[in-house]
Amino acid sequence: MGKPFGLYVHIPFCSKLCHYCDFAKTANFNADHQKSYIESLIKQLSVWYSVIPDSRQFTSVFFGGGTPGLLTSEYTELMTLIGQRAVHDVEVTLEANPSNVTAEACEVWRSLGFNRLSVGVQSFDESGLKALTRDHSSSEAFSALQKAANTFPLSNGDLIYGWPGQTTDSWLSDLSRMVDSGVNHLSLYALTYEGQTPFARAQRRGVMQAVEDDRLAIYYDMACDFLRKAGFEHEEISNWSRPGASCRHNWLYWRGDEYIGIGAGAHGFVADGSNVGLRYSYPGDLRAFLRNEIQNSVSPKMKDIVLSTGGIVDSERNLESWLLEYVGCGLRCRDGIDINLITEKGYRLRESEVFRRGLRDGMLRMQNDRIYLSENEWFRETAWSLAVADCFVVSSI
Ligand code: SF4
Repeated sequence: MGKPFGLYVHIPFCSKLCHYCDFAKTANFNADHQKSYIESLIKQLSVWYSVIPDSRQFTSVFFGGGTPGLLTSEYTELMTLIGQRAVHDVEVTLEANPSNVTAEACEVWRSLGFNRLSVGVQSFDESGLKALTRDHSSSEAFSALQKAANTFPLSNGDLIYGWPGQTTDSWLSDLSRMVDSGVNHLSLYALTYEGQTPFARAQRRGVMQAVEDDRLAIYYDMACDFLRKAGFEHEEISNWSRPGASCRHNWLYWRGDEYIGIGAGAHGFVADGSNVGLRYSYPGDLRAFLRNEIQNSVSPKMKDIVLSTGGIVDSERNLESWLLEYVGCGLRCRDGIDINLITEKGYRLRESEVFRRGLRDGMLRMQNDRIYLSENEWFRETAWSLAVADCFVVSSI
């Protein structure tokens, strides 16, 4: 496999909107909207192809949403275009909801080149599904996961914890059903109350209350324990996989590798000859996207820079924000952070008292020029990443 390079494709259509969801999405669409949207994605990707050298081949592709599983053969042309710039063993993931996962749909997705299916389950508890305003049943979710596990070489399932009314028994039962389904990768997320979602508004009105952090920590510890015994490896705060079933696309994010994002609300990160590269995003406004106002937003200036230097200079991101992001991502996954990578960018390590105490108490570990945070502290990664990033000072000081 060459140097990791990813593609994220955002598909914003959902048959029903879940009240906790803060992603760019719409339930108000028809087949014409879907067709125009895919055409816009094709144009947008073609613009990127004109600035990225042919030698940069995708090692992983991720169709996220929204609900990419609402579409099947509509992806044919887009997948052909993607295939022109992909390594032979590219990992191609499609996110789907349980009601999308039929035998026929799986067959079409496989024939188009998708080799990993990620099913959004969130809970197997009927009261949990109701609390989370999901539009599928527990048995539908289990059967979708089984189909995913039987049809795709790699399969993921997602669960949410911390929903109103959840009990530890219900959480253990969710974990157990997930393991029994046969999927080889799990993502577990604490429920959050974000932005303008109905859940966040209800929380502001005092109608809903977030579960306390201590309780979330109990659910997290239960998951760590249960999944370790079930043979899963804990790769990152929210992600576990069976040996050999890591999600390549996730690692690309966690290690700070490059990826293009296309579609409404998509984010991307492209490096340049400098230290930190460019992070960018597209507006989540689907109407603007459908009016074809988005696909040329890769400005000529950026194109010129890419063509002349082989990269794109980041005018917004600085070395300090890179450091915080790199340390934050690295400390909450099993790879930790690479001290040499940071010192190459002009920093040196000056251990603080908090850092030394962390080493002494076994929360931090330094080994082979890397720093690791112990698994049971990943849940408190934010405080640790600030403390560790503070220990890297610019060399000239
Ligand atoms: S959680 Fe998934 S299905 Fe629900 S609204 Fe968000 S993107 Fe759509």
